[in-house]
Amino acid sequence: MTFTSPKTFRIKSFGCQMNVYDGERMAELLGANGMAAAAEGADADLVVLNTCHIREKAAEKAYSDVGRLRREDGSKPLIALAGCVAQAEGAEAKRRAPMIDMVVGPQAYHRLPEMVTEAVRGGRPVDTDMPAISKFDAFPKRVRANPSSFLTIQEGCDKFCTYCVVPYTRGAEISRPRKDIVSEARELVDTGARELVLLGQNVNAWTEDGYGFAELIRELAKIDGLHRIRYTTSHPADMTEELIAAHREVDKLMPYLHLPVQSGSNRILKAMNRSHTAETYLAILEKMRAARPDIALSGDFIVGFPGETEEDFTATLNLVDEVHYASAYSFKYSPRPGTPAATMEDQIAPEIMDDRLQRLQARINAHQAAFNAASVGRQTEVLVERRGRHPGQMIGRSPWLQSVHVETDAAPGDIIPIKLLADGPRSMAGALLTKVAA
Ligand code: SAM
Ligand code: SF4
Repeated sequence: MTFTSPKTFRIKSFGCQMNVYDGERMAELLGANGMAAAAEGADADLVVLNTCHIREKAAEKAYSDVGRLRREDGSKPLIALAGCVAQAEGAEAKRRAPMIDMVVGPQAYHRLPEMVTEAVRGGRPVDTDMPAISKFDAFPKRVRANPSSFLTIQEGCDKFCTYCVVPYTRGAEISRPRKDIVSEARELVDTGARELVLLGQNVNAWTEDGYGFAELIRELAKIDGLHRIRYTTSHPADMTEELIAAHREVDKLMPYLHLPVQSGSNRILKAMNRSHTAETYLAILEKMRAARPDIALSGDFIVGFPGETEEDFTATLNLVDEVHYASAYSFKYSPRPGTPAATMEDQIAPEIMDDRLQRLQARINAHQAAFNAASVGRQTEVLVERRGRHPGQMIGRSPWLQSVHVETDAAPGDIIPIKLLADGPRSMAGALLTKVAA
């Protein structure tokens, strides 16, 4: 099939926040190369599927998404398969889905415009190379930021948990240079960001010449006009004393920590190749609570890892009860091709996983509801992010990352004083105040 040069594009991002960030950067890159985002509901000349490979039938889902791009008249847009499925499948993707014109891995996005030119000329380029973060250098300056904006500072992972595909799809741990992070942070703040969410597969492993993540946070906190700093996802092995101290001392660092544990059973943690035990994990949280008593804690859990017994699972429930999470994410174990756990004995039956997931989520939801109930009456500030469903209603985030609905004429990007009121179990309502009581 022959194509004319695309004028419009659509990027569909799946999975983690790092994919959302990459999707924004690819959009800016295509924009700088003369293309425009397709209007809502309109056909796009180029579609980029920015895929996720972390769980379930990721590749199959991506191929069926590709199939759905066929238009009623039989034509199709130019199609780029991007993200972690692209990295994992490589050239095989072109064989399995002839509709795919380009395959571009997460470290090769800077080459997207030239790959589009090649595809228009009839080529079917594949680039899944992993050069040392050159993609960031090729992206244009930030020109438009959200009130809460993502900023990737670290990529890849060297930890090789036995269930996880990330070290294979995103490559080795790499930290972006400090000066590039600070200048991108300034660009984002200059164009409307009030909050930065620092991203990395192991964001707190960021380092440069002995300079650590906590120092980076302190440096970013000096940026005028930046009000809030968050980070995700952190790893227990990289929770340094300095980072815990930053939570006590840096006002702009929000009282929220997402620290995945995966299981409450030391036997399972060992089989997962996690470097922590339930006890060392809890000890980190205890120090964090001493540094910042109001901190909202979040985590990730996997149920049904090979060999997980009811006793192991009970240890996970007990850990949840001990931590009193403000929120947490839980997943059924999904065997990832090429990872050690995929071939372990004692794979757990789907119905056992379903049952454990339901029980775990019920427990997490109860703690989340209790956390929100305990916040009722608190006077605080909300960063307004977007309009709500009702006229005059805006939605923002509290410092503890609760979603808060407020009747206000404030605009996205405003930080407004409110009193937290009860709402649903997952969100809060806010009553506007003239100022927060000291
Ligand atoms: N680096 C972070 C850490 O180690 O804590 C987590 C990043 S990982 C991309 C996000 C989450 O996906 C993990 O915390 C884990 O709970 C989940 N996950 C990863 N591989 C999985 C698998 N094979 N099956 C189910 N969940 C998985
Ligand atoms: Fe995956 Fe996180 Fe483990 Fe790395 S540390 S292998 S990203 S779960």
